[in-house]
Amino acid sequence: MSSASLDTTSGHVDVLIVGAGVSGIGAAYYLQREHPQRSFMILEAREATGGTWDLFRFPGIRSDSDLHTFGYEFKPWRDEHAIASADKILAYLRETAAEHGIDRKIRFGSKVVSASWSSQDARWTVEVDHAGTGERMTLTCSWLFCAGGYYRYDEGFTPRFEGRERFRGLIIHPQHWPADLDYTGQRVLVIGSGATAVTLIPAMADTAAHVTMLQRTPSYVMAMPSKDKLANRLRALLGDDRGYAITRRKNIIQQQAIWRFCQKYPKAARRIIRNLNAKMLPAGYPVDEHFNPPYNPWDQRLCLAPNGDLFKAIRDGRASIVTDRIVTFTEQGVLLESGRELEADIIVTATGLNVQAMGGMSLTVDGRPVSLPDTIAFKGMMLSGVPNFAYAIGYTNSSWTLKIGLLCEHFCRLLAYMDAHGYDTARPELADPDMPTRPLLNFAAGYVQRAIAQLPRQGDRAPWLTSMSYAGDVRLLRRLPVEDPELRFSHSQAREQAAAEPAEVVA
Ligand SMILES: Cc1cc2nc3c(=O)[nH]c(=O)nc-3n(C[C@H](O)[C@H](O)[C@H](O)COP(=O)(O)OP(=O)(O)OC[C@H]3O[C@@H](n4cnc5c(N)ncnc54)[C@H](O)[C@@H]3O)c2cc1C
Repeated sequence: MSSASLDTTSGHVDVLIVGAGVSGIGAAYYLQREHPQRSFMILEAREATGGTWDLFRFPGIRSDSDLHTFGYEFKPWRDEHAIASADKILAYLRETAAEHGIDRKIRFGSKVVSASWSSQDARWTVEVDHAGTGERMTLTCSWLFCAGGYYRYDEGFTPRFEGRERFRGLIIHPQHWPADLDYTGQRVLVIGSGATAVTLIPAMADTAAHVTMLQRTPSYVMAMPSKDKLANRLRALLGDDRGYAITRRKNIIQQQAIWRFCQKYPKAARRIIRNLNAKMLPAGYPVDEHFNPPYNPWDQRLCLAPNGDLFKAIRDGRASIVTDRIVTFTEQGVLLESGRELEADIIVTATGLNVQAMGGMSLTVDGRPVSLPDTIAFKGMMLSGVPNFAYAIGYTNSSWTLKIGLLCEHFCRLLAYMDAHGYDTARPELADPDMPTRPLLNFAAGYVQRAIAQLPRQGDRAPWLTSMSYAGDVRLLRRLPVEDPELRFSHSQAREQAAAEPAEVVA
């Protein structure tokens, strides 16, 4: 893969993007389109683009979102499957990067470990570890755009299981899937009930002897066709660009409407989902035991079963669900609180992610370390007291990328505004230090809750709210001005000095 070379004479770029996943590639596209004169570079810790879609290799890995909203606004999704496998998503991302020359701007194996802001110079000094050589490199940038995702790449989350070492079979975490694992004819036990488990189980059930899903708490699972017939018809009729644009709009409205309905009428939503589930399960199946979560629909992400694959595997007897708690691992499997023992050859711990904010970088502003829980998110994309720093965190209630596109647009408008007024520094400053704050993500998922204390917070009023509403964000990030009384613009001393000094005349 090609790699960016840094201008070694200055070691400086205007914008440094951290991470070459969906968000980093998207940010590069918008930056290049709106500010072609600006220099930028993407630093990527791994040796490949794609982030999530390259890291996870477990059987069946696919999106939960339709690619008409998970895809970029500027690049149509052409595949007939709206719910797509990781390899198709990766191909789409890499095609985007290649088409726009973004792949030439990526420096691989380069992990950003820290960044220090100097107000005097209006720049960040960034420390980067190089994976291959172990060398540390320093460079500077005027803006730091963190697109480092939201979880640790080196280690997935596994709770402590009593007696784990006693188990004689294999224990695997989906984040570290062995490429050569052959589970044909094996008894597989998957611990977990989230999107990963729901994806893995039908995929493994094709060749495994049997797959058991062991869950402590049920999730909501909705069956949906993997192909969107209307989208495919529109594409055939109107062409890729117009067909995609219409389907995207339809799906955005649909996603928001479903989410709002679930928030407003949780009981009705629960009843509808339960009845749909029951129709897809064998007669007499204990739906209320295995598909009846204690929380309301969309308090956590709904899991998706494309073409009802999970329900089909259950109907065919290739997969089953057990709702219980583990007392201990045993030599043969796990012993449950009910006294039942589940035997297995392979145990998959689909127990989640370790959330990590801002790519794990440590930030310093004028010598003072930034404590993320003491910062407040400004418009869901900058941090109070941290100048020239933007980050990409997408939606948790609809496609992640929908928000990324809007915040990249806003970021580009902000740069244009600063250019027009000769500013080189933008720092969100909270006017009311007594403003009540709450967690950044109002999401009940275990992985979010475990990390809440390490994350920035949000306020109770604009611009300190982190919106989960696409319509609200279109207004805030696309339409409303970038100026805000709580976003302070300034010229650095370095810039003022440069302006005051007489220009050198070359004879
Ligand atoms: C299995 C799975 C399925 C998912 N399915 C969906 C879905 O269907 N719909 C949806 O909306 N969301 C989904 N998500 C959430 C998903 O992660 C996001 O939608 C999206 O892929 C995130 O893209 P990103 O570029 O922001 O982050 P990532 O994909 O995590 O990419 C971040 C990149 O930054 C790099 N990086 C991180 N820190 C540093 C650093 N300090 N220095 C240099 N590089 C760094 C990483 O190596 C990585 O390449 C899913 C998540 C998982 C785990």
